[in-house]
Amino acid sequence: MYDVIVIGAGPAGYEVASLLGSGGKSVCIIDKDESRIGGTCLNEGCVPAKNFLETASFVKKSAYFQKCGVDLTINSFDIAALKKNTNCLITDLTDGILGKLKKAKVEIKYGSASFLDETTIQISGANEEVIKAEKIVIASGSTHRNHPLMNLVDGKIISSKEVFELDAIPESILVIGGGAIGCEFATFFKSLGSAVDIAEFTPRLVPIEDDDIARTLKRELEKQGINIFLKSNVTGYEVQEDGVEVTLDLGKKVEVKKYDKVLISIGRNPNTEDLGLDEGIVTTDRGFVIVDETLKSISNMNVYAIGDVIPTPALAHVAYYEAKRVAATILGQEPMAEKTIFPSVTFCTPQIASIGESERALKEAGVDFKAKKIFFKINGKAKIKGDDSGFVKILHETQSGKILGAAIIGNEATEIIHEFLVAINAELTIDDLSKMIFAHPTLSETILDLVSAH
Ligand SMILES: Cc1cc2nc3c(=O)[nH]c(=O)nc-3n(C[C@H](O)[C@H](O)[C@H](O)COP(=O)(O)OP(=O)(O)OC[C@H]3O[C@@H](n4cnc5c(N)ncnc54)[C@H](O)[C@@H]3O)c2cc1C
Repeated sequence: MYDVIVIGAGPAGYEVASLLGSGGKSVCIIDKDESRIGGTCLNEGCVPAKNFLETASFVKKSAYFQKCGVDLTINSFDIAALKKNTNCLITDLTDGILGKLKKAKVEIKYGSASFLDETTIQISGANEEVIKAEKIVIASGSTHRNHPLMNLVDGKIISSKEVFELDAIPESILVIGGGAIGCEFATFFKSLGSAVDIAEFTPRLVPIEDDDIARTLKRELEKQGINIFLKSNVTGYEVQEDGVEVTLDLGKKVEVKKYDKVLISIGRNPNTEDLGLDEGIVTTDRGFVIVDETLKSISNMNVYAIGDVIPTPALAHVAYYEAKRVAATILGQEPMAEKTIFPSVTFCTPQIASIGESERALKEAGVDFKAKKIFFKINGKAKIKGDDSGFVKILHETQSGKILGAAIIGNEATEIIHEFLVAINAELTIDDLSKMIFAHPTLSETILDLVSAH
């Protein structure tokens, strides 16, 4: 009998398991096999995707540094080397996670976990076993969501997972879905020479971001030569020997286009189907485990759920925070805040990041606020870094100047956003920021210029 069983060794699972183990609990963590340690994030999400994207953005920036005198004529790209290097990174980071779990004396078991009753777990696979615990934390994450019409077809119609297995950059690719992951891969393939189209069902890209961010992104992607079809729908397709023929309903017309590959990126589904949740008396809604404000199952008081398996934003840093909250609760420590301020990040080129309240949400809530915006074009460091596209936007209360939210599109947006993370948490005003000294020349001083502008 363990104190706690954790199902899934992704960011949510390994974080909660190591915190609980360090806190003196006897903990067992289960994942399907050794190759899954680190979960989606490490093996087929954040880490490999960002290594791929960083490489592609380097290729893109090389044009500027060539103008600065560096002979960086890039006429070849070796995807095998990128994959090899990415796998080395993954191995390195996996070792780190295993070390952390070992230090916390967490027992690791491999196999597929499912509930037999409210506190009993069956492990299936090579090493069948039945184990029990006082508390169970479900951290089984999510997987690719199928397209209603198109099934994945080996090497031709792929999900984000198969991008990391490609043996060559396709000559042409259709990305279905203009959310964060779709836009990231669109710029990856474009930078490395593919002809790229994005087909998005809704009227805009990156639906969680403000309209001005989505519009600027569309313009920047189009400048790169990416075709974007908004309000479009795939109504038919035929897999052929040398690619996929896709029928696209573009509203005003229907087009039939041929692509080497199609990438489906329309969201993720929670991994709950195989968990035997009925036996565990764990309630779900559309596949997500339903939890209360303390992340405890609403139907089984011994069970918690965290990460992509609950309907909070599917981000690794949100999963880490939820893991910390549940660990604090189980260890009887001071509860951590339920309401949080966290950045949303998209690593396409240009990058996007936002935090706090959006302009749309503030308008809907009738808040008296002002939006201030400054373009990277006036920033020396952006030019030095070879990309001065995009802007920084700050949203503040009209009277007090208190910072309510921010959104950035452009160079290193995913790093700069953390200045607003601190400012919003510390309840700073734009006046407070304007009295601080920012280093020159930096991308961050754009924020000083923005809050100092009259
Ligand atoms: C292409 C891509 C790029 C991404 N980029 C970012 C990014 O830049 N930043 C960001 O914050 N997030 C990013 N994400 C999202 C991020 O990967 C997830 O939010 C994060 O991995 C969720 O962590 P988790 O622990 O909840 O689940 P997961 O990481 O999915 O881990 C769940 C684990 O549970 C295991 N499991 C499932 N069922 C069972 C079972 N029955 N028995 C045993 N084990 C089981 C799985 O094998 C898996 O290892 C990206 C995702 C994708 C797909």
